[in-house]
Amino acid sequence: MPSRKVRGRPERPRGGAPVSGKCRGSRRGFCQNQRVTSSSLRSELSATIGAISPSATLAVTNKANALKAAGESVIGFGAGQPDFPTPDYIVEAAVAAAKDPKNHGYTPSAGLPELREAIAEKTGRDSGLSVGKDQVIVTNGGKHAVYNTFAVLLNPGDEVIVPAPYWTTYPEPIRLNGGVPVVLPTTVASGFRVTLEELEAARTDKTKAVLFVSPSNPTGAVYPREEIEAIGAWAAKHNIWVITDEIYEHLTYEDNKHFSMPVVAPDCQERFVVLNGVAKTYAMTGWRVGWLIAPPEFAKMASTLQSHQTSNVANVMQRAALAAVAGPLDAVHEMHTAFDRRRKTIHRMLNEIDGVECMNPQGAFYAYPSFEEVLGRQLNGRVATTTQELADIFLEEAKVALVPGEAFDGPGYCRMAFALSDEDLEEGVSRLADLIGRG
Ligand code: PMP
Repeated sequence: MPSRKVRGRPERPRGGAPVSGKCRGSRRGFCQNQRVTSSSLRSELSATIGAISPSATLAVTNKANALKAAGESVIGFGAGQPDFPTPDYIVEAAVAAAKDPKNHGYTPSAGLPELREAIAEKTGRDSGLSVGKDQVIVTNGGKHAVYNTFAVLLNPGDEVIVPAPYWTTYPEPIRLNGGVPVVLPTTVASGFRVTLEELEAARTDKTKAVLFVSPSNPTGAVYPREEIEAIGAWAAKHNIWVITDEIYEHLTYEDNKHFSMPVVAPDCQERFVVLNGVAKTYAMTGWRVGWLIAPPEFAKMASTLQSHQTSNVANVMQRAALAAVAGPLDAVHEMHTAFDRRRKTIHRMLNEIDGVECMNPQGAFYAYPSFEEVLGRQLNGRVATTTQELADIFLEEAKVALVPGEAFDGPGYCRMAFALSDEDLEEGVSRLADLIGRG
């Protein structure tokens, strides 16, 4: 949109508030502006932002935390974050970086050159994708990489195929950037994996990109290599961008393995974005460092966007991320052992509950059980007709927090993160079994 220049008028803040600290026309210390009701103010604010739904996973965590703060013993399967501390050597790198004035200023918008280099190297080491550091853009967490990917990629009306159940954050940045999420439901019958036929049926001349995530949040599904190859080849053939979220690359179980789409389907390397970050691999969710990897022209635009948007990711956090990605993978191997043990427990215990069915999680740290048979039943005198209602009943009656499948466009199911202690996990599932069993 073109900008407009106004000449000859003095600067005045929007909304007409006087420049001095005190409100003129105020009575009994209240400013006129403050008496405007929040609903009428809302109508003045962005309709686009007003239409976004808040992150459902964070909402569940907040509700559970409020109950905990009120003294309730709540067991949380809501939050998608490792229950381990960040490894010491990473914390120490951050402390040392904070003490060094050279890290007190801005960094380039695209990230510290040494971090971009280390991410490129780590990517070659872990997934076999060979990229230059000019293709790597450091972002404020993986979530920010998702947002900026769609900001750089989309023009109004572009369609992005999003297989469901999907991570709750994908559709909003698509919409916010003028795109149209085309939701493609998958079922447990296909292991919650989208098929080539379903993708082809959803393709139109507006299809710009397909969102791909394996291991998946929320279902724990992992695609086998041949299916990834086929989807990548299909996308390349139709000049469709693949956005591949690899944040759970190190968390796969049994015979399941992570494969990077641009590696196993090299034809899609012309139009691809890899999303990743330190959050899950190094137990660093709160440190907020992620990245995107894309063709150099794309990366350059993402850097330009960030130069106006965030300037850079916090310098000290980038130093910590550098220690993480350049260091060993011991921490994630240890977490893997714990997650694998809990995965087996939760899978077994859930399937022992009458009316609950759970696919064996193949990756990430999520179980995605079906509660369809529990809907309509008496639970401590209450009845749920949707999993949204069921999650409320579980929280209020059993003090167990789950994220209802509605948050992921996969109703009838709930997501249970098994990133909590073995004892809590067993106690939490036992509480559900008791509540459901008691009726
Ligand atoms: N992708 C997926 C699939 C995720 O589950 C998450 C975190 N829940 C992210 C990306 C983003 O992680 P973060 O913003 O914490 O780096």
